[in-house]
Amino acid sequence: MQYDTYLGVRVSPLTYDDILNQVNEMIATNDQATIFAVNPEKIMTARQDDELRHLLNNATFQIPDGVGVLLASKLYNGRVKERVTGVDLSERLLGLANDKGYRVFFYGAKEAVGQKMQARLQERFPNLTIAGYQNGYDDDPDALVDRINESGADMLFVALGSPKQERWINDYRERLNVSVIQGVGGTFDVLAGEVKRAPKITQKLGIEWLYRLLSDPKRWRRQIALPKFLLTLLFNRKQSK
Ligand code: UDP
Repeated sequence: MQYDTYLGVRVSPLTYDDILNQVNEMIATNDQATIFAVNPEKIMTARQDDELRHLLNNATFQIPDGVGVLLASKLYNGRVKERVTGVDLSERLLGLANDKGYRVFFYGAKEAVGQKMQARLQERFPNLTIAGYQNGYDDDPDALVDRINESGADMLFVALGSPKQERWINDYRERLNVSVIQGVGGTFDVLAGEVKRAPKITQKLGIEWLYRLLSDPKRWRRQIALPKFLLTLLFNRKQSK
């Protein structure tokens, strides 16, 4: 598998279509793909946390979720050419499941959010088979693994926030008889309509972060990771020259 590396963390330089095609093949051959989103915040955390870095690098696909990784790729001639966001990729995977009859299981978020999301998805994707749902707050992991396997799910979406979801997926992937496992963070809240996505225009301009910052100023603590990430990259490159 091809990838770029930013401060020790792998990022897949693939488009949505590349990933969907590969995932489709993996379902056909009963292989397993894990998909984790990578952004400056996670890369900066992984710098201090060997275990997290290792488990991010161990995934099949590390998608460039934030504009930060795309910027870094542009600055340093990387192969990442476009963003692949967790929410958009999940929506496309759900579209694929709807068309091909793949079964999907959702794990995470609050019960009410999960119920609302399922109702909305069932309207959007009338042929989608939802094989099961479990909220992310009161679950027994062993019983859950059995439930997921018994449901015959082909795709599993895990929304526990990061790095909880990455750890969970890494711990249980081998016991799960599921072809595609994606860690999706706050995606269920978006699919349920509880959290609004930034307007398309801000996404196009790459200033979704600015919209998020203005609508929730407390986020600056998380967003400071982006300039830190770019500066650290710059510093590291200078040192290695
Ligand atoms: N969540 C959960 N169980 C937990 C902690 C969080 O199900 O123990 C859910 C939470 O309800 C939300 C999602 O995980 O739906 C976390 O979203 P957030 O936006 O914080 O994730 P990020 O993408 O920023 O990591």
